[in-house]
Amino acid sequence: MGKALTAIFPGSFDPMTNGHIDIVGRCLSTFDKIIIAVLSNPGKTTLFTVEERMSLLQKEFSAQKERVEVRSFSGLLVDFANEVKTSVIIRGLRAISDFDYEAQMALMNRSLGGVDTFFLMAREENSYVSSSIVRQVAALGGSVSRLVPAHVEQALKGKFAQASK
Ligand code: ADP
Repeated sequence: MGKALTAIFPGSFDPMTNGHIDIVGRCLSTFDKIIIAVLSNPGKTTLFTVEERMSLLQKEFSAQKERVEVRSFSGLLVDFANEVKTSVIIRGLRAISDFDYEAQMALMNRSLGGVDTFFLMAREENSYVSSSIVRQVAALGGSVSRLVPAHVEQALKGKFAQASK
């Protein structure tokens, strides 16, 4: 038997969207295991804490616990990749506008740590789904039910109900 193939799917996941779920699902047909790596960056303000972001992901993938692991990381992604003994990063691409930044990061990660990035095109229906759009719509009281699973929508409602108190 060959070596188990593990890939890291890094991001902010603030919060997780249907776009993220789709990428994980599609990766599972190629990779044995996916480590979702949630960025913990104290310098960046997020709507959800790192624990909240992780717990939403864990809830979503609870049925695939054996193959989908949720972890947090800080610092250089290549150091985290070394720590978990993987040299594959997965990223999703929505539009050409994602390309410049992603190319920079991929080249940097390759030269810093010999880690390669594999890109998956977002599904058409998810091309305009982003965590920031979800946060903006939810903040204004709009429905995000087509963009995120129900438990994430609930968590957003909880946040903005708190904020308006
Ligand atoms: P980051 O701040 O690192 O971009 P995100 O949580 O926004 O973190 O995104 C994490 C990964 O998920 C990125 O590779 C991003 O391109 C991908 N992604 C985000 N939204 C979608 C989507 N709608 N469809 C496919 N991939 C997506």
